[in-house]
Amino acid sequence: MAGGNLRLAEALAERLPGPVRTRHAVGRVDWTAESTTVKGQGFEVSGDATVVTVPATVLRDIRFEPALAEAKLRANRSVDYGHAAKLSVPLQEDAEPSSVMSVPDRFWCWTARGEGGAVQPVVSSFTGSAAALEALGVAAGAGLWLDHLAELRPDLALSSEGAVITNWDDDRWVRAAYSVELAGRACDHTGLVEPTGALFWA
Ligand SMILES: Cc1cc2nc3c(=O)[nH]c(=O)nc-3n(C[C@H](O)[C@H](O)[C@H](O)COP(=O)(O)OP(=O)(O)OC[C@H]3O[C@@H](n4cnc5c(N)ncnc54)[C@H](O)[C@@H]3O)c2cc1C
Repeated sequence: MAGGNLRLAEALAERLPGPVRTRHAVGRVDWTAESTTVKGQGFEVSGDATVVTVPATVLRDIRFEPALAEAKLRANRSVDYGHAAKLSVPLQEDAEPSSVMSVPDRFWCWTARGEGGAVQPVVSSFTGSAAALEALGVAAGAGLWLDHLAELRPDLALSSEGAVITNWDDDRWVRAAYSVELAGRACDHTGLVEPTGALFWA
């Protein structure tokens, strides 16, 4: 999406009757069968119900009062998460739209048109799975991945000093990429969506 996926959320938010509060981290949720109060630094919101949508990876950072039942915590622990990262590298020269995959190094890269139809002066790369991130040395920075990218795309004039890595594991509000279902490990879908008094789970 031109301008970034955030534009989708912003457009939806504009149609809501009340303001959407961003940068308001919830630290505590008090709940009964009929009401809830959500609290964070400098704010408190009470209502008839709360829909909890935080990733399972960070649920334990929120204090629930009374505490959540062990069955609910177990259901959240049954959700597995995948790992992913992107490398964006500015280009010194114009490029055509393209996409190339490196099978041995488990990443792919692309150049693409942006708003107005012109090819954006950047090559993006994506890699997924903990093993692939480790093999590309993502935690240590862009160095190794850049070397592999330069080898894979000698047709592009990389401006390596402007390279930016986005590693979803580093996002403290998610700490992973997306939830996955692993072969041989059952996710407790029923336990996940079971309401807890006036708390609902999405
Ligand atoms: C690299 C990548 C590419 C993807 N590509 C696509 C795609 O092309 N198409 C597609 O459909 N999906 C895609 N997805 C998946 C999509 O992004 C997710 O399915 C979707 O964002 C999940 O939405 P969510 O609301 O469940 O969780 P999230 O989007 O993770 O939202 C959870 C929110 O909770 C917030 N939060 C956490 N803790 C607190 C707290 N204590 N207080 C307040 N807020 C808190 C976080 O900041 C976050 O904003 C992609 C995901 C990744 C990682």
